[in-house]
Amino acid sequence: MIDFRSDTLTKPTPGMLNAMHNAVVGDDVFGEDPTVNELEKTSASYFGMEAGLFCPSGTMTNQIAIKCHTKPGDEVICDSLSHIYLYEGGGIAVNSLASVKLIKGNNGRLTAPQVHEAVNNTLDIHRPISKLVSLENTANRGGGSCYEFADIQSIREVCLSNNLKLHLDGARLFNALIAKKDNPLEYGKTFDSISICLSKGLGAPIGSVLLGNTEFIKQARRVRKVLGGGMRQAGYIAAGALYALTNHVERLAEDHHHAQLIAAALIEKDFIDSILPVETNIIIFSVKGRYNATELTQLLAKQEILTIAMTPTLVRMVLHLDINPDMVAQTIRAIHSL
Ligand SMILES: *Cc1c(COP(=O)(O)O)cnc(C)c1O
Repeated sequence: MIDFRSDTLTKPTPGMLNAMHNAVVGDDVFGEDPTVNELEKTSASYFGMEAGLFCPSGTMTNQIAIKCHTKPGDEVICDSLSHIYLYEGGGIAVNSLASVKLIKGNNGRLTAPQVHEAVNNTLDIHRPISKLVSLENTANRGGGSCYEFADIQSIREVCLSNNLKLHLDGARLFNALIAKKDNPLEYGKTFDSISICLSKGLGAPIGSVLLGNTEFIKQARRVRKVLGGGMRQAGYIAAGALYALTNHVERLAEDHHHAQLIAAALIEKDFIDSILPVETNIIIFSVKGRYNATELTQLLAKQEILTIAMTPTLVRMVLHLDINPDMVAQTIRAIHSL
């Protein structure tokens, strides 16, 4: 099977498994797991941030960040397609008792004027207090779209002048960095907190890291414990994440190239209505005429190609570490045959 359903489906490579097998471990709740400590330190310095916190999932890193940045009743500003709102089980309400203001952005991206307009007047007692802006880069439901870094800086300005914190859901931040050739240190300077996932296109089996300043991460470590996310000899999984961070970032360019090749084959077909601009490793397209999304997904599955029907008309394909050039060629032949 050639599995394009998600970039979370990757299996550890032999080199990664070897690193995991040989990891030196300790009890991380005691702060004594050297491999977890190394991962946290390496991730933080990658972005020039002070500290990191290893967590089992990107949902947990995002939710901890939201909880640390807000008080009950405060408002979080984000895109209406954002993962923190759509795919984290209502966690903003459950974990932080916070309110949300949704903005309809451009394929998952917000602009500074939109954020400015979304900020509530703090003197109006009817309104929740705007406290946090959360961006997503790349934007999953935006088809893997990336921000221009200058646009993020403009949003930062709005945050600074309105006393708002700025969080980044960077589940696929490495894809954005590779696609835009941006400097990770600039990201570290601009955000109050960043969540990165090692378990997506980077290919680790488990793991996300929350980044921020020392005081923030100290508070985050307490919240992680409350959520049950304090793990013991977590170095075995941190070793896989560290291996991913060290070895699998540059190769993301290959996934982006593969996505372009597949999108170019799709666009020629009469049953394709439109494709969101392919900027990284995600292809989201809508179908028309001969097939609905489920039918197309089933036809491709008969040729051993797995995709996901997101809605009756939308299909998603995601490139990752376990998709090689032969598989891409086979997929393109299958598309031509439809
Ligand atoms: C995958 C993902 C997350 C985190 O998901 P987990 O499965 O909890 O690790 C967060 N944000 C985005 C945009 C994602 O795609």
